[in-house]
Amino acid sequence: MTVTNRQILLKSRPVGEPTEDNFKLVETPLPEPGPGQFRVRVIYMSLDPYMRGRMGAEKSYAASAELGQPMVGGGVGVVEVSNNEQFKPGDYVVCYSGWQSYCLSDGTGVMKLDPANAPISTGLGVLGMPGLTAYYGLLEIGKPQPGETVVVAAASGAVGSVVGQIARIKGCRAVGIAGSKEKCDFVTGELGFDACVNYKDPDFREKLAAACPNGIDVYFENVGGKVLEAVIPLFNDDARMPLCGLISQYNMTELPQGVNKLPALLRAILTHRLLIQGFIISYHFKHQPAFLKDAGGWIREGKLKYREDIVKGIENAPEAFIGLLQGRNFGKLLVQVSDDPTR
Ligand code: NDP
Repeated sequence: MTVTNRQILLKSRPVGEPTEDNFKLVETPLPEPGPGQFRVRVIYMSLDPYMRGRMGAEKSYAASAELGQPMVGGGVGVVEVSNNEQFKPGDYVVCYSGWQSYCLSDGTGVMKLDPANAPISTGLGVLGMPGLTAYYGLLEIGKPQPGETVVVAAASGAVGSVVGQIARIKGCRAVGIAGSKEKCDFVTGELGFDACVNYKDPDFREKLAAACPNGIDVYFENVGGKVLEAVIPLFNDDARMPLCGLISQYNMTELPQGVNKLPALLRAILTHRLLIQGFIISYHFKHQPAFLKDAGGWIREGKLKYREDIVKGIENAPEAFIGLLQGRNFGKLLVQVSDDPTR
C-alpha cells in the first residue's frame, strides 16, 4: 500500500529570525521499503534550537539542511512495514526522521523504545538527546560538588530543567534563570530548584546575585548575551562553565554592537582560573547507557520531573519552531504528527 507522506521542506534560508515563508508543506507518495529497510510512521517530531543552525549555509559542526529537502531532526514513531529482521512491525523507535509524517530507514542510528518503561515522547526529551546533553555537560565538564552553587539558564526547557534537577540530586544549590514569572514558579515549585530569576526583570543582576549568596561554582551556559554578562562577576575561584548553547545569538546577523565584554571575561578566566569548555553532544553518545540507567532511576524515584509542550499537527511545526527561538515554548517542544497508541 502506498502511503502519502506530508513533509516540511526547507524552502529558503532565513536572514535573522526564520519566518513561515522559509518552509513549505508538501504531500508526496512514499516508496515501499527496499531490501533491509522499514517504514516508520512518525508520532512525535522534536523541535530543537540547533535546527536554526542547520537552516543556514554557514560552515558549522554539522552539514546544513538542503534546500528543497525535508527539515532535519529527530522523531519517535512506530514501525509499520519491515524488510529488516532487527525491526518488526509494532516496534517503537527513536530515529533521525526529519520533519515528515513517515520515513524509511535501514536501522542506522535507530534505537528501540519500550513504552512500558516511559512514555515514548520522552525518547526525544528527558530520556533523549536533551537529557543526555544535560547529564554529560553537567557531570563530565561541570563536575558539581555537594554544597556548590550551580546556575543554569533556559531553566524550564528540555536541557536546563534536567541540569538543575541533577545538580540538586548531587547535593548542590540549583539556581535557574528563565524568561517569565510562570516559568520561574514552575522551576522552583515543580522542579525543586532552590531559586529562579527572570532575566527580563529590570533588576535581574541584583536578583541573580541575591540568589547566589556564595557565588557561582558551575554555570551551565545555554543562552549567552546579557545573561552571561550578569554571571561573570559572580564566578568563584576554579568555577566551571560547560558551554552548551548560545540561543540568544542564533538569529543574529552580525555581532552585537556596544562595549566589548571580552576583556572582562578573559580577566575573570585568568583571575578565577575558570574552566570554560564547549561540547557537542553527538560526540559523546558513549555516555548514553549510563545516562539512561541513572535518569530512568531518578524518574521512577520522582527525583527527575519533566514537562512537554506538545503542538498538534505537522503543519504547525514552522510556527512552533519560530516560537522556540523567542521563548514561547514551555518545556520540551514536540509536534504530534499522528496518533499515539500508547497514550
Ligand atoms: P529549550 O527547551 O530550553 O527552549 C529554548 C528556550 O531558550 C526558550 O524556551 C527560551 O526560554 C530560551 N530562549 C530563547 N531565546 C532566548 C534569548 N534570546 N535569550 C535567552 N533565552 C532565550 O531548548 P533546549 O533545552 O533544547 O536547548 C537549550 C540550549 O541547549 C540551546 O542553546 C541549545 O542550542 C543547546 N543545546 C546544545 C546541545 C549541544 O550538543 N551542545 C544539545 C542540545 C541543546 P526562556 O523563556 O526562559 O527565555
